[in-house]
Amino acid sequence: MNVHEYQAKQILEAHGVNVQRGEVAATSDEAEAIARQLNCQLYIVKAQIHAGGRGKGGGVKLAKSPEEVREHADAILGMQLVTPQTGPAGKLVRKVLVAEASDIERELYLGMVIDRTDSRLVLMGSEEGGVDIEEVAATRPEKILKQTIDPAIGLPAFQARQLAFDLNIPRELVNKAADLMIGLYNAFVDSDCSLAEINPLAITKTDDGQDIVALDAKLNFDDNALWEHEEIGAMRDPNEEDARELEAGKSGLSYISLDGNIGCMVNGAGLAMATMDLIQLHGGEPANFLDVGGGATTETVTHAFRLILADEKVQAVLVNIFGGIMQCDVIANGIIEAVKQVDLTVPLVVRLEGTNVELGKQILADSGLNLIAADGLSEAAQKAVQAVAN
Ligand code: ADP
Ligand code: MG
Repeated sequence: MNVHEYQAKQILEAHGVNVQRGEVAATSDEAEAIARQLNCQLYIVKAQIHAGGRGKGGGVKLAKSPEEVREHADAILGMQLVTPQTGPAGKLVRKVLVAEASDIERELYLGMVIDRTDSRLVLMGSEEGGVDIEEVAATRPEKILKQTIDPAIGLPAFQARQLAFDLNIPRELVNKAADLMIGLYNAFVDSDCSLAEINPLAITKTDDGQDIVALDAKLNFDDNALWEHEEIGAMRDPNEEDARELEAGKSGLSYISLDGNIGCMVNGAGLAMATMDLIQLHGGEPANFLDVGGGATTETVTHAFRLILADEKVQAVLVNIFGGIMQCDVIANGIIEAVKQVDLTVPLVVRLEGTNVELGKQILADSGLNLIAADGLSEAAQKAVQAVAN
């Protein structure tokens, strides 16, 4: 699950990360009122969407007065913001963050990720922060500095300070930078994040010297841990999420929508991955990943059909079920029941394997349903690809 920048900043701030004063607004009236309250020299108005690269797309604007904040908010709210991360359709902006702006001297990058090879958290930093960190990672990976965190110890101050030194953070700010890194680490662990990024982490000029502050923040959370974090679950913005993925989550189905046209209904995540691979091997494109789970019932199968068919891209459905604990005859009856309930207008390819498979196939053959039976995974994928091509 993702949250907006303003929400990520609330979480980080609660863990001691230095962020600028600011509030979120849904109207230009609210934006102006927030600016009046902040009462500073320079303001920044930032579109709140679940995508980065907003600056490039015109979703981040500086303002010198509350009146100018209102003008920018007026322009940004309601715009269909296109950034390198939104795809060509862009995203509708419903909220803006109005914050104090800073006099930036340097923009750094700070991130916390899970290194799956090492099974450890890694704190990463780069002096080349700002908007193009992906490009830095791809072309100049040596510019990204790392500290691997021992899970038994956590992030000790010396490691954070080391990264601060490596990033050439001014001496007077090193301890403050280290505290900020430890705050990021604590936020990551306490909220069960899967990714945390501060880009840019800015060295700013202030009246009495310099400061270090998070100008942007991005947090992703581990969905499997959300049950422990009601307050984070409450930050979910349904407008930003795929409606079908949300619905699937409610009914216990693992569903991820994709760009292709072959709807897939499979039991077991591994089989679902293999099915998607084989569809691609045979020249097709899956419309989704869908794992109906080991104990699929007629209800879950019906629900899954509804989800798949609600996607207007779908031109054929491939059902690939391995009856292990579930028996194939039960599954066959479930499919027949489900197909009767939903309005199936596209070809349906079914591959069954496992316990009572012969009985299951017989039930499907006798059902009078217009379906394409397949033996084996590869043949099933091939038939689904053909069905779309016809
Ligand atoms: P995105 O990553 O979506 O483009 P950012 O929040 O990183 O959005 O903003 C883009 C750029 O805007 C930053 O790299 C920074 O130069 C500038 N910026 C963002 N917040 C502030 C701020 N509070 N004060 C001054 N400049 C800012
Ligand atoms: Mg950014």
